[in-house]
Amino acid sequence: MSARVLVVGSGGREHALVWKLAQSPQVTQIYVSPGNGGTQSLSKTSNISLNVKDHEALGEWCLQNDISLVVIGPEDPLADGMVDALTQKGIACFGPTAAAAQIEASKLFAKEFMQRHKIPTARYESFTDADAACDYINSCSCEEHVVKASGLAAGKGVIVATTKKDACDAARNMLKEKMFGAAGSTVIVEELLTGEEVSCLAFSDGVTVACFPPAQDHKRLLDNDEGPNTGGMGAYCPCPMVSEQQMELVRREVLQRVVDGMKDEGTPYVGILYAGLMLTEEGPKVLEFNCRFGDPEAQVLLPLLKSDLYTVMQSCVRGSLPAALPHFHQDMVAVAVVAVSGGYPGAYKKGLPILGLSKLREEPGLLVFHAGTKLSGSKVTTSGGRVLAVVATDVDIRTAVRRAQHGISMVQFDGKFVRSDIGHRAIKQCLTVTYSDSGV
Ligand code: AMP
Repeated sequence: MSARVLVVGSGGREHALVWKLAQSPQVTQIYVSPGNGGTQSLSKTSNISLNVKDHEALGEWCLQNDISLVVIGPEDPLADGMVDALTQKGIACFGPTAAAAQIEASKLFAKEFMQRHKIPTARYESFTDADAACDYINSCSCEEHVVKASGLAAGKGVIVATTKKDACDAARNMLKEKMFGAAGSTVIVEELLTGEEVSCLAFSDGVTVACFPPAQDHKRLLDNDEGPNTGGMGAYCPCPMVSEQQMELVRREVLQRVVDGMKDEGTPYVGILYAGLMLTEEGPKVLEFNCRFGDPEAQVLLPLLKSDLYTVMQSCVRGSLPAALPHFHQDMVAVAVVAVSGGYPGAYKKGLPILGLSKLREEPGLLVFHAGTKLSGSKVTTSGGRVLAVVATDVDIRTAVRRAQHGISMVQFDGKFVRSDIGHRAIKQCLTVTYSDSGV
């Protein structure tokens, strides 16, 4: 068997996907579109510039190049129907159809779906009129609210408001001032949940779910979870704050209910299902669903996966995910520390040379996943806000953190910024939780 795979995307998530797919003896060639400076220099792998918005031309290219699987990293192409278009041409795609991807692309769809299928989540109301939203906010007994643009807003469409005034301003900015364009033409006003935030991801073949161990990412820029939100400054897995019992509850009452509900509604869910959860005193509640791997969660989940990723993805696409798949490296912890450009998430410089990568490659047991990097000749330069991540795996989280931090300290570029406390919640808890071989 000689499988040729196309991976769509350019981030650290896609680098981790390519790294793991390349380990499959079945995979002989991986194309990444557009890819980054890291994916360009891997064996079996080539970056390629395709117009992935032109589904017709993309389908023709896949047929001409004998592509046996397309793996779609980000949410936009999934919401745009890339899977629907390519599947129609007989090309196997790992990811949900546009109808199933609505679980991420429309927060209103997700909330109504959760209500229909009794999936625990925060109480909410939805609005298309700013005055009606403000009347509702002002009539509530609680002061704090979360205001969300219903559509895709590149992870920026959620405002956690500590006063009614801030919540009303957010609703007005979205509905009247069109702060997020069409994505904010419907807003959700939600109760504020408190607790530990965790990410639970699973493979689905449309019927069965197979969970990864739980992970936690670090969205804020600065130590102690302060400063502005980012795409993610680091992550670790497994997350000891989620007990095996809680994980089983999430599998049964959240992830399996989504897959059952999607099947019952005629839009089977195939791909990665990601539940962002708050562990509240009343139990885990859903904050959001994503219809793909998280970034940087993928960078810590994939190194813990023992199974052949190509085989698992193909079995999802064929609707035959065996209950015994996937397998994970037991008793191991993975930690990712991300280096970002100075100024990020605001304005930052691009094109700065990145030094130390060849020395880092010689460090045993460390993985480097590029994101905002470009290869110009033999030189790697910065080209984005989140530049790259170093991932360490170990039996002990403190050792994994130390090794990942040591690895990232070897990478140098002007203005580099790194959080120094990735994994701090798990370390504080100082618990070790082991997960059985078949997921949970
Ligand atoms: P979302 O895109 O819906 O996950 O929201 C982005 C972030 O906003 C989440 O990761 C949480 O940190 C926060 N958030 C969203 N909904 C709530 C909520 N109901 N209560 C508290 N925080 C929330």
